[in-house]
Amino acid sequence: MNKHLLFGKLRHFAAAVAIVASAAVECIPVSAGENTPFVLAIDAGHGGRDLGTSGRRLHEKNVTLDVARKLRDIATERLGDSIRVVMTRDKDEFVGLRERAAIANRAGADLFISIHINSVARRTRGRERLKGTSVYTLGLHKSEANLSVAMAENAVIELEEDFSETYMGFDPALSESYIIFELDQNRSMEQSLEMASLAQHFLVSHAGRADREVRQAGFLVLWATRMPSVLVELDFMCNPDIERYFQKDESRKELAEALFLAVDAYRRIHPPHPIEIQPQ
Ligand SMILES: [Zn+2]
Repeated sequence: MNKHLLFGKLRHFAAAVAIVASAAVECIPVSAGENTPFVLAIDAGHGGRDLGTSGRRLHEKNVTLDVARKLRDIATERLGDSIRVVMTRDKDEFVGLRERAAIANRAGADLFISIHINSVARRTRGRERLKGTSVYTLGLHKSEANLSVAMAENAVIELEEDFSETYMGFDPALSESYIIFELDQNRSMEQSLEMASLAQHFLVSHAGRADREVRQAGFLVLWATRMPSVLVELDFMCNPDIERYFQKDESRKELAEALFLAVDAYRRIHPPHPIEIQPQ
């Protein structure tokens, strides 16, 4: 596809997303009140035929689901009616990226967390020693490494039927596609960055992960959400020591706990939005 055609299609995609976003604004806000729950959308990366990255024993899709469930359980146990958790998937099933974002949008989520595990290509020297956590917000990548992470995660759209139509010709493997993330600045950038810093902080201090810092890259799933959103790369599956860490139930609990501490700190700074009701 030539560049002009590609950008034309991407503009259509951006316009379509903007229309969907504005359609939801025609609601009547009423006062938040004491009992308005904070709505947390948890997105367990991959699922079903999409395994995500694989180590010697583990598939990313299973670990992300377990950490997501643990995060939900800790949040509902500790916060009761003050929180409502929406899961984009709660079993081993395939869910497209756009549908994941749509689930969070429909639920009116206050915050979206997508959970993933990192890896690098097999030919990468020293991949077995890579370690550390990075929390991403949507933005234009500052390094090729960050772009590669987004490309790897976005590549899952190729498993969706009619992905070319659904994503208006977005090619996850083509670096030119990623220009849209520069043109279309996320409305919730500041709050997303706050959440990313909190999650990064607790994953390092509470779960003992090495610090690979908050980063930015063009993740389609973040782009399609209408609320503050982050994508967490918990650590590296291609490192056998880290894979062993992921195998343990207590490690997954620790990771979920770290994410919970971040969510709890975030919701104290940004209490839930007013309830919105559709006009009759
Ligand atoms: Zn992933």
